[in-house]
Amino acid sequence: MLDKHQSSQVESSAPIEPSERLRSRWWGALGTFEARQGPRTSAELRREARRPFAEAMSAAALWVKRQRDKRLQPASEVVSGILDRLGPAPAPDAPRRVLVVVAHPDDEAIGAGAVLRGFPDVTIVHVTDGAPLDGDYAVRKGYESRDAYAEARRREVVAALNVIGLPQQRIRSLGLVDGEAAFHLVELCHKVADLFDELQPDVVLTHPYEGGHSDHDSTAFAVHLAAGMLLRQGQKAPVILELTSYHNYNGKRRVFSFLPFKSSRIRTVYLSPEDRRVKREMFDQFTSQLPVLEKFPLEVERFRQAPRYLFTVPPHEGQLDYERLCRRITGAEWRANAERALEELRTRQSFRGVG
Ligand SMILES: [Zn+2]
Repeated sequence: MLDKHQSSQVESSAPIEPSERLRSRWWGALGTFEARQGPRTSAELRREARRPFAEAMSAAALWVKRQRDKRLQPASEVVSGILDRLGPAPAPDAPRRVLVVVAHPDDEAIGAGAVLRGFPDVTIVHVTDGAPLDGDYAVRKGYESRDAYAEARRREVVAALNVIGLPQQRIRSLGLVDGEAAFHLVELCHKVADLFDELQPDVVLTHPYEGGHSDHDSTAFAVHLAAGMLLRQGQKAPVILELTSYHNYNGKRRVFSFLPFKSSRIRTVYLSPEDRRVKREMFDQFTSQLPVLEKFPLEVERFRQAPRYLFTVPPHEGQLDYERLCRRITGAEWRANAERALEELRTRQSFRGVG
């Protein structure tokens, strides 16, 4: 099936507009494709459901672990070289065009505030405006309305990135509501794909899929899907690197670490006292988020190549971090939305007669 898709893509060579070309790509990263070829066919799922509950749970846990290991992508020399060049000081051989796609205005400062200074050409994209749908939340934080809170978050991130000389024209928002990205996955994939077409990034820096925040996972989903489309078209896709965010680890929120993937090399950048001072100054601009930001250390920043995720299985066993703290969506609901989005994107493709 993979070969069929690839060959049909090659044959479909009529000149079309870039955005239209993107929309007619077969949607799906290799990992998601493998998920559909994996052992959890609907027949097998039905068979599993007939097993005793404990046995099914145990089998599911083993399956998740096995599938997670299959997602490994050995770091290539190219990726290793990019990771080695990350640092707070501008390097002549640093990746030229970098696109940072994160869920909220402050995620970029938390995960990569110091390293952003080392990129000669960087654009920051926030998937959401950082203001939840519930207007009472904004009022409780002392703002007149949800819109006023969203505007404040925009002002904060512009001020924070101004500390390192990044102009506000380089800071974009896709305009989704905080906490709602999982309900707009298809739209989000289109928007990220359009960004790739417009900006032609060499490297995309984004969240890991780790169940820390549903918007983080939705952002990772869209980035991986958009890059998968380019690859399936035989085009060069940006290298996807990850910055650290947070996830649930034994009942506690763990920051500045990744969920482990065997052979996934992690690059740790140690910040000098001057780097920390600058990063602290950036953090200070986020006046509405200071209690949250205090929990993130200033000593290091960590990066790695994104593993090949299976978005239809949980990122880890047990309760996800956002399931502990957020009532908007559960992990199972998020994965159901991801499955639906994948189906919709594939259906759209076959309807066009290309896939
Ligand atoms: Zn975030």
